[in-house]
Amino acid sequence: MVVGIIGAGASGMAAAISAAENPNVQVRLYERQARVGKKLMATGNGRCNLSNCKMGVEFYHGEDPSFVEEALNQVDVLTLRAWFYDLGLHMVADDNKIYPFSDQANSVVDVLRLALVKENITLLAGAEVTKIRQEKDGFVINDTDFCDRLIIACGGLAGTKLGGSMWGYKLLSKLGHKSTRLRPSLVQLKCDWPGVTALKGVRCQCNITIQRDGECFARSGGELQFTEYGLSGPVVFRVSRDVCHGSGNWTAVLDLMPRILSDEFTQLLEKRRERKLPMDELFTGILHNRLGRVLTKAAGVTGSNTEMLTDHEIQELIKTVKHFEINLTEPMGMDHAQVTAGGVLTADFDPNTMESCLIPGLYACGEVLDIDGDCGGYNLHWAWASGIMAGRNAGKE
Ligand SMILES: Cc1cc2nc3c(=O)[nH]c(=O)nc-3n(C[C@H](O)[C@H](O)[C@H](O)COP(=O)(O)OP(=O)(O)OC[C@H]3O[C@@H](n4cnc5c(N)ncnc54)[C@H](O)[C@@H]3O)c2cc1C
Repeated sequence: MVVGIIGAGASGMAAAISAAENPNVQVRLYERQARVGKKLMATGNGRCNLSNCKMGVEFYHGEDPSFVEEALNQVDVLTLRAWFYDLGLHMVADDNKIYPFSDQANSVVDVLRLALVKENITLLAGAEVTKIRQEKDGFVINDTDFCDRLIIACGGLAGTKLGGSMWGYKLLSKLGHKSTRLRPSLVQLKCDWPGVTALKGVRCQCNITIQRDGECFARSGGELQFTEYGLSGPVVFRVSRDVCHGSGNWTAVLDLMPRILSDEFTQLLEKRRERKLPMDELFTGILHNRLGRVLTKAAGVTGSNTEMLTDHEIQELIKTVKHFEINLTEPMGMDHAQVTAGGVLTADFDPNTMESCLIPGLYACGEVLDIDGDCGGYNLHWAWASGIMAGRNAGKE
């Protein structure tokens, strides 16, 4: 029996290794890029956050997030760690996030690559699949290759420079599967505040509230990073899904000193007033220098020395630092997004096997399906878990 797998990213490699557990199966793994796992190499800032000890349906989104439940049962975190351990990967958990012990994403790609070197797996790199034809007992790939069962593991549209494409949606749509609206998630947000350019590269701890027409839409806390166009970092990724989609005024309200209460902050600034520092040094030792200066200006403080600070200015400074409002315009595009929100309708797939309910013998796994996870290893866990399930079931005689 031949199992064809389109895409040698996270889910496709997991599917290939799992299908090939059956020695009577011949796996043909097609990858359009010259090498396998190009996107994987870039994950987790080159560290590859491959899963998370805190796992559950609540970390996933889509029209029906409960679709992931069976995959999380069948391939829970311990099972996944054991699976990778068997492939030779040593792992560590850092704040619940699971990384390779080497701290290098290429360790993950390497153990997968080595596991693909097996008699019953043929890896076809640089082989783009553009056509699939359904036949009575199987599928014909690119008009030439026949397979009995087929797994679509083409990933999503996010991270276009790393291989994200429309292929998975197109191939599945030709076979009769429908998709929901695609949009970027875990993505930077653009803003219309000109001051942001001066803060490019500045990082700080922050609590963020996203408001739509003044109503709270999402909240998060953690590291914020300013970019040339707007806001980035884990704190933003966590709340980026669906921001600026639909009408309304979208605002980010930033608490840039979340660990200090307003009363304490007042005392701190009163002390700075007594120290008679040049105004540029008002936040020295407290905030990133550039951020401190930008915020002092934004609060409307004009004096040249901290001794000139009025009580009103101190209150304005506190308001600015703890309630800084920025108008958001749009998310960055798919090329900057880590994951695609939306995808092929899960209602047409069996959550126990990943098999299509429309076409027997056809399977899909990973990001191409309408499932996206939160920041923290959830997208890769879904890719591995759904890939392992698709591979095992497609490889069953
Ligand atoms: C910068 C970045 C950082 C990320 N960091 C993390 C992280 O730390 N933790 C986490 O959980 N998630 C992270 N993600 C998300 C995660 O990488 C993806 O959700 C995951 O890789 C999806 O796996 P997949 O197998 O579905 O798709 P992919 O890994 O994208 O693999 C799909 C493969 O299919 C190939 N392909 C597509 N079409 C065809 C075709 N027609 N013919 C042949 N081959 C084809 C592609 O070239 C690609 O290799 C990150 C994403 C990005 C972009």
